[in-house]
Amino acid sequence: MDDCIFCKIVAGDIPCDTVYEDEDVMAFKDINPKAPVHVLIIPKEHVESAAHLGDQQVELAGRLQLAAVEVARRTGVLEDGFRLVTNSGAGAGQAVFHLHYHLLAGREFTWPPG
Ligand code: AMP
Repeated sequence: MDDCIFCKIVAGDIPCDTVYEDEDVMAFKDINPKAPVHVLIIPKEHVESAAHLGDQQVELAGRLQLAAVEVARRTGVLEDGFRLVTNSGAGAGQAVFHLHYHLLAGREFTWPPG
């Protein structure tokens, strides 16, 4: 997608602070962190949001989940705990329309989220 900022990150056209990468998934630090640890986990393939995942992405969805656990391990928060969030749709606060999971950790979190 030509106008997608996360596709440009995947292509290497926009720099990022990579935490994890494999054939299908990338994870990089959020540019405007909302917690001491704030990493975005994205598919390299352009998928607009969680609402756009289908049967053909079952394996990809699993890889994203496992990549998040690996990010938690690499950032040292696996034991203490982390929050994994995806905003799906503008109504939920999605601003970048390329599926991404926020991994947040390193501070207290309230429940339910605001
Ligand atoms: P969302 O509101 O769920 O769509 O979250 C989008 C996230 O992308 C926000 O937390 C932004 O800070 C983050 N973001 C936007 N541009 C970049 C970028 N170039 N590098 C890293 N994070 C970004």
